[in-house]
Amino acid sequence: MQQNLPQLPVITLEKLTALIASWGVPNYRAKQVLQWRNRGILNPADMLNIPEELRERLSSSLVCEPLKLVQRQCSSDGTRKYLFMLTSGRLKGKMVESVYIPEEKRGTVCISSQVGCVLDCPFCHTGTQDFEGNLSSGEIIAQVLAVKHDLLKEPLAAELNASVTHVVYMGMGEPLANEEGVHESLSSLTDPDGLKLSKRRITLSTSGLVPQIDRLGEVASVNLAISLHAAENRLRDALVPINRKYPLQELRQCLNRYSLGKQRHITLEYVMLDGINDRPEDVELLAGFVNLDRERVNLISFNTYPGSSYTGSSKQHMNEFAKQLISKGIRATVRRSRGQDIMAACGQLKAGNRAENRES
Ligand code: SF4
Repeated sequence: MQQNLPQLPVITLEKLTALIASWGVPNYRAKQVLQWRNRGILNPADMLNIPEELRERLSSSLVCEPLKLVQRQCSSDGTRKYLFMLTSGRLKGKMVESVYIPEEKRGTVCISSQVGCVLDCPFCHTGTQDFEGNLSSGEIIAQVLAVKHDLLKEPLAAELNASVTHVVYMGMGEPLANEEGVHESLSSLTDPDGLKLSKRRITLSTSGLVPQIDRLGEVASVNLAISLHAAENRLRDALVPINRKYPLQELRQCLNRYSLGKQRHITLEYVMLDGINDRPEDVELLAGFVNLDRERVNLISFNTYPGSSYTGSSKQHMNEFAKQLISKGIRATVRRSRGQDIMAACGQLKAGNRAENRES
């Protein structure tokens, strides 16, 4: 069955070397194949220094390209948003989104870990879509590789960074509800024979699954971002329903024990919703929750979507809210919104594409 084949995006040098050795191919060819792979070239037919016979064998023995690009949108600020279709396995034909965000000195890929999400946060567009399943590690890493390939084929304007220096798990899905796929993908991202990214350059965003955060800390203590959005249980129960299972007191203790390297911090993400969580008392509640030594707050503007019953706080109000947090000694920033002209928030391209398909 195809889904049991090894996946080229995440196969280790050791495993690929053993596989091709069993075909009588010399070891150095495995390194050559991974050099192509790490640049984003997944189709063996494009691996120019690989003999034809080996290319064919790779194509038939591995899942080489688990994703097919369906749509790409480019923002005037250089942000690129991608819609991919899964090409094999249980989720064949389903769609996921990824985003590339270029800045002067860094290039960040935001990746999805699930198709849909089970957690139903009411302000989130992905939460309104059906949960279809977990992505495999190969399907997660293939998003990073597909973005690299796209940047090779069509570079960005010279003033923007056109390489992948950072990866964030902030796309569709709750990464820690897919521990197997996500843990494996993290070891592939940091593999010295793979994408060689330092843990400092990887951020995982979670809604706050306490036992899973503890396990992440043991396996790969990458940067952590928490979708906080409220600092009192009653409101957070409504906005982030997993809070009913792991309330703020438990989350607090868990974050205090998460292992952080030097000069690293946990980011508390706070989507600002007009009249809901942007009241004067919310400043006080947040100030009471934040661990000043280890955490900073990132205020995020709400990207509205069709059918949403929420409205985002005004820019002016967000700045004022940030100022008040800062006056209490909290490191707070208002996140610069990127790719607004292409609606670059998770779940929106997929939903738009489904609507187009329905209309056609
Ligand atoms: S905010 Fe995150 S955890 Fe909540 S529904 Fe959306 S994708 Fe899932």
